[in-house]
Amino acid sequence: MTEPGVASSDATNMELTIQPDGNEYVIEGRKWFTSGANDPRCKIMIVMGLTDSEAERHRRHSMILVPKATEGVTVMRHLPVFGYDEAPHGHAEVNFDKARVPRGNMLLGEGRGFEIAQGRLGPGRIHHCMRAIGMAERALESMCLRAKARTAFGKTIAEQGVVQAQIADSRMEIDQARLLTMKAAWMMDSAGNKAARAEIAMIKVVAPNMAQRVLDRAIQIHGGAGVTDDFGLARGWALARILRLADGPDEVHRAQIARLELRKHG
Ligand SMILES: Cc1cc2nc3c(=O)[nH]c(=O)nc-3n(C[C@H](O)[C@H](O)[C@H](O)COP(=O)(O)OP(=O)(O)OC[C@H]3O[C@@H](n4cnc5c(N)ncnc54)[C@H](O)[C@@H]3O)c2cc1C
Repeated sequence: MTEPGVASSDATNMELTIQPDGNEYVIEGRKWFTSGANDPRCKIMIVMGLTDSEAERHRRHSMILVPKATEGVTVMRHLPVFGYDEAPHGHAEVNFDKARVPRGNMLLGEGRGFEIAQGRLGPGRIHHCMRAIGMAERALESMCLRAKARTAFGKTIAEQGVVQAQIADSRMEIDQARLLTMKAAWMMDSAGNKAARAEIAMIKVVAPNMAQRVLDRAIQIHGGAGVTDDFGLARGWALARILRLADGPDEVHRAQIARLELRKHG
């Protein structure tokens, strides 16, 4: 979905074109942050682009299957994030220069890209949040073990009141995020993704921010070791930070939560 040339947090900005021509569609444009495109196992991409610029705002775009080996498709470069290459998965910039695919590769139908995106993004987001909670839980465990194992200024680091406050805050915040995530999952299961959209947006803000704070505390309590690769904390922090952008930045989810809240009041 994401393109270097436009603010892609508003997905309706997408400019890559998918135009019918005989029995084929012709795809023209540039994408980036295409997760997985560098992976040698990646054989096919789901590309979203503009099919009808005159249609109603959420009916302008479509999703189509594009084999990576199609003539005109070029993986331009790999994008490291915070210096991590995330190999072999990675994130790539991909150019589409009049790439042609059969008409049958269109998913669901022209103009139905946002319907598909909405169906996928809810479950995708909650899965990111569950992983963020798991990362935070491991960071808290590591924080406690390290604080108990090391002594500074005559007592263990765990005996310092300021460290205890950080451990307590981390436990409270993890459990709050977990309960909200479980509520969102329960709503998705019992009432469907649409009914759960406020809860999904809420956890998409809450869980990565919580994980980032907990990982930051864990890094501090580990001292210099926290920023090495030895404990996985620096990597975890980078992942939590990325999650505040990927699948929509915090601000966009906050705006949706506010819209739904305000709607309750006429
Ligand atoms: C590691 C990683 C992997 C990714 N993987 C994929 C992928 O596989 N496929 C894919 O399509 N995309 C992917 N993305 C892209 C991601 O979804 C976009 O970066 C995100 O949607 C934001 O779009 P943008 O980068 O164009 O930012 P812009 O749209 O330029 O927004 C920039 C900033 O503007 C602010 N902003 C935007 N809207 C508002 C608002 N309403 N109110 C207040 N402030 C606002 C926010 O601070 C936002 O971060 C990935 C990104 C990362 C970092």
